[in-house]
Amino acid sequence: MKLIGRYTAVLIGLFLVILFAVGWERVAREEQEVIDETSRDHQVLGEYIRATAVDTAGSPGSIGARIEHTMAISNRLQHPTRLEWISGDSASSDFAGGISDTHHIEGDALVSLFPLRMDGQRIAGAIRIRESLAEGRARVRRATWIMVESMATFVLVASLIALAVGRSLVANPIHAVVQKARRAAKGDFAQPLAWQRTDEIGSLATEIDAMCTALSAAHMTVLEETRRRLSADNELRHAERLATAGKLAAGVAHELGTPLSVISGRAQMIASGEVTGEKAKTSAASIEHEAGRIGRIVRQLLDFVRRKGPDGSPSNVAEVVSRTLTFLEPIAAQKQIGMTTTNLEEAARVALDAETFQQIVTNLVRNAVDAMSAGGVLTIAARNVKLSPPKDLDAPPSVYVRVDVADNGPGIPENVREHIFEPFFTTKAPGEGTGLGLSVVYGIVEDHGGWIGVESSPRGTTFSVFLPQVMPS
Ligand code: ADP
Repeated sequence: MKLIGRYTAVLIGLFLVILFAVGWERVAREEQEVIDETSRDHQVLGEYIRATAVDTAGSPGSIGARIEHTMAISNRLQHPTRLEWISGDSASSDFAGGISDTHHIEGDALVSLFPLRMDGQRIAGAIRIRESLAEGRARVRRATWIMVESMATFVLVASLIALAVGRSLVANPIHAVVQKARRAAKGDFAQPLAWQRTDEIGSLATEIDAMCTALSAAHMTVLEETRRRLSADNELRHAERLATAGKLAAGVAHELGTPLSVISGRAQMIASGEVTGEKAKTSAASIEHEAGRIGRIVRQLLDFVRRKGPDGSPSNVAEVVSRTLTFLEPIAAQKQIGMTTTNLEEAARVALDAETFQQIVTNLVRNAVDAMSAGGVLTIAARNVKLSPPKDLDAPPSVYVRVDVADNGPGIPENVREHIFEPFFTTKAPGEGTGLGLSVVYGIVEDHGGWIGVESSPRGTTFSVFLPQVMPS
């Protein structure tokens, strides 16, 4: 039930309870008044009969005859009062407790007894007056309940009018204010209430309108601010792209420039006949070596730019790692590096094809091997972990395959660490590194919904690759 309805119902209930209580009390009071009035009438009548009887009658017997005569007249006139003479012994038993006048209720009637003393002392008998109270009582009840009924009708009609007025003055306007607040909560600040009322509800509406105006202005400011920020972000990204493209071009030019100038120099020497025989052979070998280097750079460049999405068939972690290690074993052995694996079987499958996954493992293992120039131990561990990805991936907690490639080389210095994923960043001697290995790994991992972490200290480095797990079908 709405506020106004509840309020009216409570008021009606309260009024009706009060009305009935007042009516009840009034009935009781007025009935008592009927009894008192009738008692007074009896008293007057009794005193009168007693006085005239004593004055005019000589004996109790003639008193009784007179009273019966009066009673016959009363009955004939159908008067509700009944008179009776109680003589002698029966009177004395009625007055056993005393000799004064009495009034008492008998059923629905008031009975009054007036003793008559002869010679000032002896009780000769008593005058008994009996009068029905039913009519008086009924009259009182009727009058009272008519009053209660009319009051109740008045209260009901007044309440219904109050309900209708309350609806139109309070409930409907409050409903409109609530609707307005709901629209505002959804971001619709149009259609102000703009009421001209000066009461409390009018003030509320004015305040809601003012609040919506302020919110609308704030909303517009936020939108404008967001738009400006987005456009600044776009410009920044564009500038970053230009810078990256510039770096890439410079890197390519630098990386390819050296082997190309070696190739062209040596080729010229051979072509002009400046070198012949064994020297020409050495120059040709040098050309082949540099061409191989160019080929490697171009391959890695292609890997870098031609990223594959997560559309390859899933690959088995243990299988790919074992195959990669077998393939890199000779290079590691040359540098006296031992390679071990742990928990490989525990890891399930990852959502990228074997060739791409092998590329990740190869690049990380090659870097680890390069870092341990004085020999050492390289460990590859893989396991399934349930965790929440970094915030920028915006993904729920899930099971990932974690592949750790750990070496006990000299670690990565702090100032180098922040650049290792940049394309063409390398600390290796010219001709040994392209600076594309880690950026390729980074790109692949990111494209497949994973991420990469590095922990490094002067005792060694661990690269941890996290890739979404694929359950065996
Ligand atoms: P590249 O191997 O051709 O230099 P990468 O992108 O693979 O290019 O590596 C970038 C740089 O990161 C390396 O030159 C090296 O300085 C550093 N780096 C990578 N892996 C390791 C490692 N395991 N230990 C020490 N330094 C490393």
